Amino acid sequence: MSIQHVAVIGAGTMGNGIAHVFAQSGFDVTLIDVQTAQLEKAIQTIQKNLDRQVAKEVITEADKNAALGRIKTAVSVEEGVAKADLVVEATTENTTLKLNIFKSMDHHAPAHCILATNTSSISITQIAAVTSRPSKVIGMHFMNPVPVMKLVEIINGYATDKDVTETIVQLSKKLGKIPCAVNDYPGFIANRILMPMINEAIYSLFEGVAGVEEIDTVMKLGMAHPMGPLQLADFIGLDVCLSILRVLHDGFGNPKYAPCPLLINMVTAGKLGVKSGEGFYIYTSGSKNLVVSNSFQK
Ligand code: NAD
Repeated sequence: MSIQHVAVIGAGTMGNGIAHVFAQSGFDVTLIDVQTAQLEKAIQTIQKNLDRQVAKEVITEADKNAALGRIKTAVSVEEGVAKADLVVEATTENTTLKLNIFKSMDHHAPAHCILATNTSSISITQIAAVTSRPSKVIGMHFMNPVPVMKLVEIINGYATDKDVTETIVQLSKKLGKIPCAVNDYPGFIANRILMPMINEAIYSLFEGVAGVEEIDTVMKLGMAHPMGPLQLADFIGLDVCLSILRVLHDGFGNPKYAPCPLLINMVTAGKLGVKSGEGFYIYTSGSKNLVVSNSFQK
């Protein structure tokens, strides 16, 4: 099936990156968010990231302008998905919210439209079950930052049609990505393995085994990770990490996935990492060196 018009719902950390890669690859994009301020911020971020690509001579100024020209914005799902061949949902990691959005998408998108979600952990089968087209619902899990990271984890729900999977696999390749198809169990592959590691790093800090910098340094230098697990958690968003751990904990019923109380406290206090300006580290615009949050300084 041919895909030309893509709607992206949610213009946060992931949504702006997803809109960016589709527009840069020649697709018409409608970026949808309930918050006008988020839409404005997303367009600025896309512009800044495209400028960086021009500076590195990855794309030309004309490519940048063409990509920006392909992105429209909308504040309502109803309006935004009306002409879509594919919708990629990238709203907050909350099951109730996503189920409601999928009901609305199903109602307003054309019958041929594939409904994809960028969820990190929520069941594709459960999401598909609230629509009238479960065979056309699939997980399309991009990695952060989307314009840079090559992987797209493609998740087949219980009812996902093989042709739909093939369409999304081929589409991911057109975006310059490397697709990897997996089945629908809590956390899929990426977060089933990543989140317990991040949680264990937070437990190590909580129990006083080591400080923020020591934990990240051990994992960076010892395991050749490009970023330590606490910095990575800040980058993903501590609220997102907590939501994923809760899905793993509920889904498997295994106490090994219980989120660390320190993570719960930080999210409750609004310390969400990069997006709120502070998590395990402090993020002030323009600062190049990582500064550990006052809460964890020795
Ligand atoms: P975010 O908090 O940065 O952005 C979420 C956006 O959704 C916000 O702009 C919010 O205004 C919008 N939103 C909320 N309700 C809405 C509604 N009803 N209609 C339209 N927009 C609505 O979140 P994020 O980090 O971009 O995560 C989005 C999704 O991507 C989540 O499912 C998350 O699990 C997944 N994901 C996140 C990462 C990551 O590193 N942050 C990586 C892969 C996947």
